[in-house]
Amino acid sequence: MLFVSLRDHHYACMKFKHIIWDWNGTLWDDTQLCVEINNHMLERRNLPATTLEIYRDKLCFPVDQYYCQLGFDYSKDPYSVLAEEFIAEYTERRYECPLHDGARELISAFQSQGIRQAVLSAYQQDTLNQAVEYFQLLEFFDDVIGLNDIYAAGKVENGLKYIAGLTVNPVDVLFIGDTLHDFEVADAMGVNCALVACGHNSRSRLETTGVPVFDVLAEIREYVLGMEF
Ligand SMILES: [Mg+2]
Repeated sequence: MLFVSLRDHHYACMKFKHIIWDWNGTLWDDTQLCVEINNHMLERRNLPATTLEIYRDKLCFPVDQYYCQLGFDYSKDPYSVLAEEFIAEYTERRYECPLHDGARELISAFQSQGIRQAVLSAYQQDTLNQAVEYFQLLEFFDDVIGLNDIYAAGKVENGLKYIAGLTVNPVDVLFIGDTLHDFEVADAMGVNCALVACGHNSRSRLETTGVPVFDVLAEIREYVLGMEF
């Protein structure tokens, strides 16, 4: 009896009841691959190469606002052509990318504390499902929500739809992402946000949001569960 009441008390103290994860860059360590693919695209056009630092400083959504900063000329190469070129190499090479260190352990720790979890991604639904399944993470998530559009727009709309269908109070929800866009999505949804600087945007950009920024996933464990875990 005492055990049950302590558990209930503990659960009531839990900072968040529901966690929504971004996938690319947050759980999946695919940033370096994106830089390599961008460099292949630049090389084919004799344009100067980019670096991980520049990528993290410049990448934004919609992505067409980013490619023109790298030197691509849309009058020669329409954005849709560049997007398809990117997707072709990304699709071929994506499983070269591992999960971020500690991703599985963290997701598993949250599940064992009774926190519900979901993935909300701008990745295509089918390929998102395949990737989550490939890393054997499906069992941890109540919902896996992607897009049906390779041009990666509409995460806000999906987020709003998703939160409207949940019975949980938005103040009990934490969105964990790696970009300024993830902050905008969380803000539109009215939920809490934490960001990791090991993905697609630099720490200095993420810090402009005012929400907690962590260098690695492991640091989120203490933020969510407290010292004792
Ligand atoms: Mg991301």
